[in-house]
Amino acid sequence: MNKLNILPPMHNRSAIIIGGGLAGLVNALQLAGQGVQVTLVEKKKFPFHKVCGEYVSNEVLPFLKSLGVEVEALHPAHLTHFLLSSPKGRTLQTPLDLGGFGLSRFTLDHHLFQLAQQRGVTFKQQVSATAVSFAQEAFTVTLSTGEQLQAPVVIGAYGKRSALDRHFNRGFFEQRSPYLAVKYHLQTQLPRHVISLHNFDDGYAGVSAIEEDRYCFCYLTTRQNLKKHGTIAQLEAQELSKNPWLRDLLRNSHFLYPQPEVINEISFAPKACVEDHVLMSGDAAGLITPLCGNGMAMAIHSAKLLSEQVLLFLNGHQTRLQMEKNYANLWQRQFGARLQTGRLVQRLFGHPVLSEVAVASLNLIPGAVKAIMRQTHGKPF
Ligand SMILES: Cc1cc2nc3c(=O)[nH]c(=O)nc-3n(C[C@H](O)[C@H](O)[C@H](O)COP(=O)(O)OP(=O)(O)OC[C@H]3O[C@@H](n4cnc5c(N)ncnc54)[C@H](O)[C@@H]3O)c2cc1C
Repeated sequence: MNKLNILPPMHNRSAIIIGGGLAGLVNALQLAGQGVQVTLVEKKKFPFHKVCGEYVSNEVLPFLKSLGVEVEALHPAHLTHFLLSSPKGRTLQTPLDLGGFGLSRFTLDHHLFQLAQQRGVTFKQQVSATAVSFAQEAFTVTLSTGEQLQAPVVIGAYGKRSALDRHFNRGFFEQRSPYLAVKYHLQTQLPRHVISLHNFDDGYAGVSAIEEDRYCFCYLTTRQNLKKHGTIAQLEAQELSKNPWLRDLLRNSHFLYPQPEVINEISFAPKACVEDHVLMSGDAAGLITPLCGNGMAMAIHSAKLLSEQVLLFLNGHQTRLQMEKNYANLWQRQFGARLQTGRLVQRLFGHPVLSEVAVASLNLIPGAVKAIMRQTHGKPF
């Protein structure tokens, strides 16, 4: 009999999670809540900042509540309206169907980390997982300290790109991606209920309120664009500022960090949900283009789907093979089409002429923006 079709030993209900972003933390909370012994490895130390637009779709609220996460207690901004501007400053505004909340990753991830600690999750911080091997129904995870951990389940929740992707021989890792992203927190004078997306040549920027009196300002552009202008400051002064909305923002805001957070090599290429029996969660399973503002909801939702399958396996109700197949099918059904639409929509923006035309046309077709949003967002879960 194929070993993968054998049910797991009931005495070893343990899991190792690699990566402590939203996906890893939600997996940890859900599994620890059901008595699984969880060890989570995170290469940074909580709390820390992350490059992200920090707009979370309200679709996650019922599930977060079921995990005991009280988002309101963290005083998020409530985002009910959407504004889109073209590179020349032409705008379109619409109420959001479901809406969302604005909360920094610093605060949200830290809160989940503290909850997970209270629920008995063991954290190994400032340590990277460097290799994973699978033999005789058990994983061995090697850490940067040389320590080795073992468990019958390993979840890869290490985000959009990690050295582990090379270890798993994932195709996208070797292909250079043109995208980079920059994020600031700032204080400014803008309505706190509006999330706005502003286009510029070869990129787009999101602005939305977060907790306290702050705003998140985050943009995606290409390496080529940065090279053309030389520095981030020049890129902002010479390119982003051509859009009047961004010019006003850059001139009239108080920037809260001395330096922005910057990441590069952001790839939107399709990925597999399972690699060498490691179950991928969140961005490690697939990243939606950020202009859809749905990556965090997807990370949380994919962690939910995955933990449910892991629990069935660890509780002896399905084999490893069934767990892997079921998760991959559920993932495709829930997110496959969303990622494709996200890639298509991203092609419309960032290009100066196309995004002018897109904003003008969307203004003429009532309901078109909402239809796109429905295609790239899920329902409350
Ligand atoms: C520019 C930009 C803007 C975005 N804006 C939004 C938005 O407004 N709304 C939205 O919903 N989504 C947005 N997203 C998407 C969102 O940020 C991600 O989908 C989300 O962070 C995914 O969570 P995750 O847990 O999968 O990964 P992450 O949050 O990236 O967490 C992965 C963690 O793994 C750790 N790690 C990596 N490698 C290792 C290792 N080898 N060992 C140990 N730890 C490791 C990392 O330190 C990190 O903490 C945006 C994305 C980008 C790029």
